[in-house]
Amino acid sequence: MSDHDVDLFVIGAGSGGVRAARIASSYGARVMIAEEFRVGGTCVIRGCVPKKLLVYASRFADEFHDAAGYGWRLSAPEFHWPTLIANKDREIARLEAAYTSTLERFKVQLVKSRAVLEDAHTVRLSTGARVNAETILIATGGWPHMGPKIPGIEHAISSNEAFHLAELPKRIVVQGGGYIAVEFACIFAGLGSKVTLVYRGENILRGFDDDVREHLRGEMRARGITVICGHTVTAIDKAGDELVAHLSDNKKIAADKVMFAIGRRPNTMGLGIENVNIKLHEHGGIEVDEYSRTSVGNVYAVGDVTNRINLTPVAIREGHAFADTVYGGKPTRVDHGNVPTAVFSEPEIGVIGLTEAQARAECAKLDVYKTSFRPMKATLAGRQTRSFMKLLVDGTTDRVVGCHIVGPDAGELIQVIGIAVQMKATKADFDATMAVHPTAAEELVTLRDKAASYTRAAAE
Ligand SMILES: Cc1cc2nc3c(=O)[nH]c(=O)nc-3n(C[C@H](O)[C@H](O)[C@H](O)COP(=O)(O)OP(=O)(O)OC[C@H]3O[C@@H](n4cnc5c(N)ncnc54)[C@H](O)[C@@H]3O)c2cc1C
Repeated sequence: MSDHDVDLFVIGAGSGGVRAARIASSYGARVMIAEEFRVGGTCVIRGCVPKKLLVYASRFADEFHDAAGYGWRLSAPEFHWPTLIANKDREIARLEAAYTSTLERFKVQLVKSRAVLEDAHTVRLSTGARVNAETILIATGGWPHMGPKIPGIEHAISSNEAFHLAELPKRIVVQGGGYIAVEFACIFAGLGSKVTLVYRGENILRGFDDDVREHLRGEMRARGITVICGHTVTAIDKAGDELVAHLSDNKKIAADKVMFAIGRRPNTMGLGIENVNIKLHEHGGIEVDEYSRTSVGNVYAVGDVTNRINLTPVAIREGHAFADTVYGGKPTRVDHGNVPTAVFSEPEIGVIGLTEAQARAECAKLDVYKTSFRPMKATLAGRQTRSFMKLLVDGTTDRVVGCHIVGPDAGELIQVIGIAVQMKATKADFDATMAVHPTAAEELVTLRDKAASYTRAAAE
């Protein structure tokens, strides 16, 4: 046993910190974890979980609409925002308690306090108490970035506040084109708000496959969401309860709320990074090696604060790998390739692997398979929506190097397809798999006609 107060001090009880703390403790380390807000972190308290609950709520609108085509007669349904928020808060409180009791069960000492680094082995708590630790793990996550200080920015909300609005805004302007902006635009539209999405880039969801971006944008438009690309909100006026968003093309949009979802920044402010001389990389995240070790030997960092891939399962995997490496005698690197992801837009997106643009750059020969079809459920419902699927196949090895789905349950589908892609399945393996009929997913094993083929020599 070392002569430090604890073997490991974890700053931040979110996805990465909690996993690292409990696994380290299970290996016999004496672990203390500090949390300044609520145990569970962004994902549980104001990220993935509450967001998915709002997504579920927003999708009932389609269900009620579709039911009529299937013979159900319903009186006009009414939506009550305060009920949704209260029920969501109750579920979040239950999960927070479950996370807290997991920490207790694993004998991790929880301190409800902000923690600041004083030196490479000392952490100061809000009470002024100091804790000396052999190893420190920074798992402080990220924070919504509100952009340059435009006039009236104080009237804008971020995703943090969106979960606690007193009432559903009748009109909302959402600025941003990433997955959080797109998801909230779809949530509010589904619940009945008039939504305008403003994004400075040329199309939403930068980094996703171009066909996926275009398909979703069309679907969002068809659902009544106004999508304005190539512009930004330059000022926000407030007159009484009404806000007016001024856009860079001088257009003005009146709204009840203006939400900024333009990205998140690694949460390193006021953490005492400068006291320890920890190196940050150019995007502001903490620089780490493949074992999540920072430039200071006994200090590690995992999750969004390192700005690698900012997703909950990645933070959890990094936290677990850290504990295995440092306390379990099993040096473990996290594979950041082929991470399947979902966007809980309406319709949903699920993707794994390369985009077509990336695949064209990486594969000497590339075959592209794609299909777009009306989901069966939409037929009797009379709903005009289409699903989209695309497989990218390395023409030399026949390996499926990318799969992109827009349609119902795309997130569920991509989790399973992710296993096949991770196992390096070929197009022939997909084709040899018997279809499940009638499903949307059967399209993926029955794609016969190439939409396009490229060879690098021909493209150059
Ligand atoms: C709206 C939204 C939706 C999202 N949806 C998804 C999704 O669908 N799927 C997905 O995979 N990911 C999603 N994410 C991302 C996901 O939430 C993060 O990637 C994940 O929570 C990162 O975990 P972490 O451990 O790095 O940090 P966090 O979970 O952010 O935890 C960090 C914790 O550290 C605490 N803290 C910070 N500084 C200090 C300090 N100095 N002292 C003490 N405590 C401190 C914070 O209060 C926080 O609890 C979403 C994020 C947002 C904002």
